[in-house]
Amino acid sequence: MQKITNVEEFQAVREKWGEKLLILGHYYIPDETIALTDRQGDSLALSQFAAADETCEAIIFCGVHFMAETADILANSPEKIAKRGGKRIPVLLPDMTSGCPMADMANMAEVNECWKQLGRIIDTEDVLPVTYVNSSADVKAFCGQHGGVVCTSGNARRVLDWALTQKSRILFLPDQHLGRNTALEMGIPREEIVMWKKADGAPAEAVRNAKIILWEGYCPVHNRMDAQKAAELKTADPDAKLIVHPECEQDLVCQSESAGSTAFIIKEIQNAQPGDRFIIGTESHLVERLKNGHPELSILHLGEPHPCEDMAKNLPSALFAALEQLENGTLENLVSVPEEIASNARTALENMLKLG
Ligand code: SF4
Repeated sequence: MQKITNVEEFQAVREKWGEKLLILGHYYIPDETIALTDRQGDSLALSQFAAADETCEAIIFCGVHFMAETADILANSPEKIAKRGGKRIPVLLPDMTSGCPMADMANMAEVNECWKQLGRIIDTEDVLPVTYVNSSADVKAFCGQHGGVVCTSGNARRVLDWALTQKSRILFLPDQHLGRNTALEMGIPREEIVMWKKADGAPAEAVRNAKIILWEGYCPVHNRMDAQKAAELKTADPDAKLIVHPECEQDLVCQSESAGSTAFIIKEIQNAQPGDRFIIGTESHLVERLKNGHPELSILHLGEPHPCEDMAKNLPSALFAALEQLENGTLENLVSVPEEIASNARTALENMLKLG
């Protein structure tokens, strides 16, 4: 049995695999692991790399569970499997406990119950379910089954604009903040946005008036960033530009100079001029990497550094163990979505990809 205990042993085995192996790394994983990956990106970009790669025979996805699921769904469509002569591409997650608390805030029993209860108040035939990509495969499948769609933090506005050309209302899962921030940016009045609570739903009158019905999920990492701290930092350094992720609360997003996806934040920093000053409200592995990569800029965390604990589980030792599994053919960390779920989830993902 092959054992990999350090970077040299990892590189030796990795070289043997060559292009047959694709190692993907999300921007939020630790630096020592990202240095060992082939492609880096946000969750959707990485899944698209997985889907587009024609040469790889195996994928290790250094991220969290829903991302590996999305890569499996896109890389292992029946057409792609047929083209490979029946072969599936195994997708491995280095640490099987690296989930996403936000994705876990919407399970199918709860979503089905919500849909049933909504059906007693409004015509659900006229509601389009939209899910943030940070959701489980079965929530994506629910959306696909009902003509719905997936969105990312980078394209939420475009997706919601389209969704409202299809149906009168949207059920937005699972991130209330991305849903609310996007709806308000679109000019939807607050009284047409309602939050559905798992425990007691929402008042019938508010649901009848709503264009956007929000699920009550949130990202614990971005939810900890607060508007008051941002105001203190801005008072201390008024020239610093405050940039936050749209998973942050609305009062913080309102206060920021700009809000956007991880890719957007990286671009803002890459396009800055020497001496420019920033306060950044997003996951701290990324903020640290931006700070270290741009000593010509002043980059501050918004308050205490906030690492994503699940992303942090992607340690080099976990990646070594995943490569060992591939080498030994044991595949204990395989993430594989059954085709009856994957096909509907793929429909929702493809509905998004068609929108560009
Ligand atoms: S940063 Fe938030 S949304 Fe992203 S994986 Fe961690 S908990 Fe989930």
